[in-house]
Amino acid sequence: MQYDVSLRDLNTFELEARAKRFARVESLEDLVSLYHGPEWSAGPRLVLGGGSNLLLTRDFDGLVVHMGLKGKSLIGEDAQSWLVRAAAGEDWDGFVRYTLDSGWAGLENLTRIPGTVGGAPIQNIGAYGVELVDRFHSLEAFDTTAGRLVTMDAAACGFGYRDSVFKREAGRFIVTSVCFRLPKIWRAVIDYGEVRQKLSQQGVSVPTARQVAEVVASIRAAKLPYPEEIGNAGSFFKNPVISGPQHAALISHNPMMVSYLQRDGRYKVAAAWLIEQCGWKGRSVGRAGVHQHQPLVLVNQGGATGEDVLTLARAIMGSVRARFGIELEVEPVIV
Ligand SMILES: Cc1cc2nc3c(=O)[nH]c(=O)nc-3n(C[C@H](O)[C@H](O)[C@H](O)COP(=O)(O)OP(=O)(O)OC[C@H]3O[C@@H](n4cnc5c(N)ncnc54)[C@H](O)[C@@H]3O)c2cc1C
Repeated sequence: MQYDVSLRDLNTFELEARAKRFARVESLEDLVSLYHGPEWSAGPRLVLGGGSNLLLTRDFDGLVVHMGLKGKSLIGEDAQSWLVRAAAGEDWDGFVRYTLDSGWAGLENLTRIPGTVGGAPIQNIGAYGVELVDRFHSLEAFDTTAGRLVTMDAAACGFGYRDSVFKREAGRFIVTSVCFRLPKIWRAVIDYGEVRQKLSQQGVSVPTARQVAEVVASIRAAKLPYPEEIGNAGSFFKNPVISGPQHAALISHNPMMVSYLQRDGRYKVAAAWLIEQCGWKGRSVGRAGVHQHQPLVLVNQGGATGEDVLTLARAIMGSVRARFGIELEVEPVIV
């Protein structure tokens, strides 16, 4: 247990905030003894993974539980799939590389996403046409209400678009490990964004999983500012999903609006396009700014506070609401 700990280097926005109490958990025994100890119920709690999907708006007057559980291995296989499990504190991208190095395809589209394995199910991470749920088998979590470890399948996790039961019942479950079902008969998912086009430019029509990962990594590097360059938490807003009639009304006045028809007849609209149309690209409020090339990403230009970022986010949401009648939803968890 440590006291009055700076979280600045533990969140990718690089926002200064201090934790009143801070414990790093490196085994299940650590977690259980913390749970039974006096510090557990002495105020609010925050589970911290890689801090890549968080907006810290002030000091945390409670206990930060930093996930340091490690380990990854093949735990089974059948005719169709490999079952691969990783502990919550493993680095997500390191785990993706481990699966590819082992010859198990399936997670390549999710390459280069920052954060931990335990953080990945919280918002059902997704990129380039694949979501975590597509490769998910089950996870283990410590249920803080019942005080015991539970195993949860996809239905119990209630995955949705950047959503899960872990967001809806925030604080109840602490994910300790995640198990993936990776297909032995694998088909590349390359019809999203520029993946197919980039592969064809390299003369590749039937790519390997590693080639898909390399192309996704190069597209991401060109499009997204990495936290090592400038503090950010990736996409700050979800892409809003609107009804067919609302879409028809909007597209008649905005024929260039970027949107994608969903299976249920609704449309997912590119939040980046909406923000850019409202003139926010490259603008800033205080030391918080909208990235010059990727308007979905809010950045800390150095010395920003969480409140600066929130003020900027609210101004953007107000513009989009006024111009398009669309309510943007924030993606990172606001603490
Ligand atoms: C440059 C950049 C690019 C990104 N690209 C993508 C992308 O393409 N797709 C995408 O979906 N996301 C993306 N993200 C967002 C982020 O990387 C993911 O959401 C990631 O999975 C968060 O994991 P984390 O360990 O950093 O979680 P944290 O930020 O530490 O925590 C986020 C939330 O999860 C909770 N949490 C974390 N670990 C646990 C646990 N073990 N048990 C219970 N609760 C837990 C926290 O309490 C908090 O509420 C990006 C972020 C950045 C900075």
